[in-house]
Amino acid sequence: MPANQKVKEVLEYIKECSPGQDEFYQASEEVLHSLLPLLKEDNRYLEHNVLERIMVPERSIIFRVNWVDDAGKVQTNVGYRVQFNSAIGPYKGGLRFHPSVNLGIVKFLGFEQIFKNALTGLQIGGAKGGSNFDPKGKSDNEVMHFCQAFMSELYKHIGEQRDVPAGDIGVGAREIGYLFGQYKKLTGNFQGVLTGKGLNWGGSNARKEATGYGSVYFAENFLNVYEKSLKDKRCTVSGSGNVAIYTMEKLYNFGATPISCSDSKGTIYHESGIEMASLKAVKEINHESLEAYATLHPEAVYTPVSHYPEDGHAVWHIACDVAFPSATQNELTLLDAQVLEKNGCILINEGANMPTTADALSYIRKSSMLFSPGKAANAGGVATSQLEMSQNASMAQWSFEEVDIKLRTIMQNIFKTAYDTSVEFDCEGDLVTGANIAGFRKVADSMIDQGSV
Ligand code: NDP
Repeated sequence: MPANQKVKEVLEYIKECSPGQDEFYQASEEVLHSLLPLLKEDNRYLEHNVLERIMVPERSIIFRVNWVDDAGKVQTNVGYRVQFNSAIGPYKGGLRFHPSVNLGIVKFLGFEQIFKNALTGLQIGGAKGGSNFDPKGKSDNEVMHFCQAFMSELYKHIGEQRDVPAGDIGVGAREIGYLFGQYKKLTGNFQGVLTGKGLNWGGSNARKEATGYGSVYFAENFLNVYEKSLKDKRCTVSGSGNVAIYTMEKLYNFGATPISCSDSKGTIYHESGIEMASLKAVKEINHESLEAYATLHPEAVYTPVSHYPEDGHAVWHIACDVAFPSATQNELTLLDAQVLEKNGCILINEGANMPTTADALSYIRKSSMLFSPGKAANAGGVATSQLEMSQNASMAQWSFEEVDIKLRTIMQNIFKTAYDTSVEFDCEGDLVTGANIAGFRKVADSMIDQGSV
């Protein structure tokens, strides 16, 4: 059967057996279509039915999480862990706590994670998990009770050689601490079963900074190919969480100026550059909305979500040289992409997972703008998680500089792998194709080697 026909059939099958899982379908469509050049060249993947096999998670665990709130009332949430693929190593991928979490979101994130992890060159399989629990507005005590209840089920399915979760949206150092404490209590083992741990108890230096720093290293590598660099570039960044903050911090190190950030309530445009100490105080320490940043800096412009353009987001309507979407999925629409191009943007570098909608992505790929897909550009986080696992296994702790140097090298290698693969398949600079084929090939070859398991 011709490869395009096979891809069509598999996508129809996915649609049929995962109804309502729109984000998973969106990610599947993007990946499978971009694999066509490889599938046409090498028939083994169709012969071994790798497409069907790779699209279905090895295991999806869905569980009830009952916890007691501060008023003494029992609350219920849904917990998920999708162990997608272990062909090249133990499952690895973050946990997301956000009211929007459902099986389709966890599956899209887990599916992307397979290829991202393969691209790092490290031996880690793909997984993702989380819950529709919303940590916002909850007391520390409530967050702790929820994390303990969540881990009371999850601990049966994870382990340092089996599945090693980490953080994501809504799961930071505090949540990892409570989850780790409960794992230790239930099993009696002090093990590197989670990454993103505190520095005093097995964490890695530079893990917190890794995704944002890595995203900037990736962008610099990409621009350098075209004899450009980040120096003196004006950059728009969305989000104001872990990835966004450390993207901005690293941009300053490269002589660029981050001029925006956003959260779920609004967008800040600060023409002279985001002031990092204020931003960290507002978001990391006081957990306030960005309106508080505008109060500290009256010269900055704050646009609430209610004033966003229809079908668009204020942050992408600010003129910039490079855009760093670093908040959440589908936050950059077709209209946003068109405005970015019109305003002279030369590179869109995804820090978040699938922040670009499907129609925006196909527009961008035909435009004059360069595009770094998240599964390559944001892989610094998971790569540094793997460095944390290595340190745990050898009971060592490397310095910040040592980890940062390794991270920089890993990002350079990820870029080179994706770029060289794009050249191999005659689409130089198309990193969507390059990253998907490079990640898929490594996992698919391993699946074939391991037989029909
Ligand atoms: P955080 O929870 O630290 O921050 C998320 C940020 O995005 C917050 O500013 C949040 O605003 C904003 N946000 C969330 N949902 C929306 C929405 N619907 N509309 C607008 N803004 C929104 O998460 P991270 O920074 O860790 O993650 C950001 C992205 O990067 C995610 O896609 C994640 O999967 C991806 N990623 C993260 C990695 C990591 O190491 N942390 C690794 C690889 C990818 P508010 O404060 O109002 O909630």
